[in-house]
Amino acid sequence: MNVPLSQPHVGEEEIAAVAEVLRSGRLALGPRTAEFERRFGEFLNHPHAIAVNSGTSGLHLAVKALGIGPGDEVITTPFSFIASANCILMAGAKPVFVDVEEESFNIDPALIEPAITSRTRAILPVHVFGEAANMTAILSLARRHNLGIIEDACEAIGARHAGRLAGTFGDAGVFGFYPNKQITTGEGGIIVTGDQRISDYCVSTRNQGRDDDSQWLTHVRLGYNYRISEITAAIGVEQVRKLPDILHARRGRADRYLELLSDIPGVKLPTQWDHQDHSWFVFAIRVEDDLRDPLVEELNRRGIGCKAYFHPCIHLQEFYRRELGFHEGMFPIAERLSRQTLVLPFFTGIADEQIQYVADTLRTVLPRLKPERNHHERCAVDVGV
Ligand SMILES: *Cc1c(COP(=O)(O)O)cnc(C)c1O
Repeated sequence: MNVPLSQPHVGEEEIAAVAEVLRSGRLALGPRTAEFERRFGEFLNHPHAIAVNSGTSGLHLAVKALGIGPGDEVITTPFSFIASANCILMAGAKPVFVDVEEESFNIDPALIEPAITSRTRAILPVHVFGEAANMTAILSLARRHNLGIIEDACEAIGARHAGRLAGTFGDAGVFGFYPNKQITTGEGGIIVTGDQRISDYCVSTRNQGRDDDSQWLTHVRLGYNYRISEITAAIGVEQVRKLPDILHARRGRADRYLELLSDIPGVKLPTQWDHQDHSWFVFAIRVEDDLRDPLVEELNRRGIGCKAYFHPCIHLQEFYRRELGFHEGMFPIAERLSRQTLVLPFFTGIADEQIQYVADTLRTVLPRLKPERNHHERCAVDVGV
């Protein structure tokens, strides 16, 4: 059996919507973009949504919209996809990493306060894997120290913390629609905000710095071309329509994995909490340090698309080491997670037989990979199994 790591959930509705755009003759700057934004904002029940051509573009504009630039610091997590720190560098500011909570994979609020300096302007939490960060603690810290909050919610559409949707806590929240996300537009992203000025800034800067009422060749600030096409937006409209069903289906698929994997020794499953709603971007498990890479290799050999995730941590990416001087040992929990975590095949349409095949294969191959006993005992403590 062959089980891909991920697969977009698109159907005839998206195909028809794209064909309609192509027949309309209006391929950019048209009504589909506005409709996509309106529907997305309605889903989140949040005032402004500004569609852009990627999650990374959205993060870049959100950081700039808060007036962050050279000389400023933004506190963020090293256990994430690189864009959540690159966006700070793209604005000319400095990412300041703090370590994560082992159980949630998310930035540890207790470590944020000691990292605040006179240059700190904002906190940029990432809702990793679809699990919302502890926004109660982060909001109170931000208020106390007068800091902005940019939420990287690219992996967490529909996730909730204390009943509130991820992406709606901060000054701005950003979502991404790459094909492995819960919903996709091929490439794409969206910024959400309750702040009219942030919204106006993003609307202008995604479109070459034009003002709302300015002429096509009048540019009032430095801008970019971060627009989406009407084709992208039309896909987005259909995907947002399906979003509640998609989230429901993913929850069911995740529950099935949780059930089938619950008694496999040496596998640490995602922790669940009552006050959190996970929106299941990926299904991540942990195994002992020295088993992770052989396990990924063996599962891949048996037709199962799985992957070490996130590996390496952002601060240990070559460029961050070389240019910014980061090294091993600086964020031990993130680094340990990065050695132990892998993501299993997970997508909205994954079949029950596929999940069963993954679970059965994992159960068969994992014990055969066990290293020396001493070593095993030491590592077993690490993953809490
Ligand atoms: C997917 C993702 C992004 C955005 O990625 P794009 O490919 O630019 O859309 C940003 N941050 C995180 C954590 C992501 O997973």
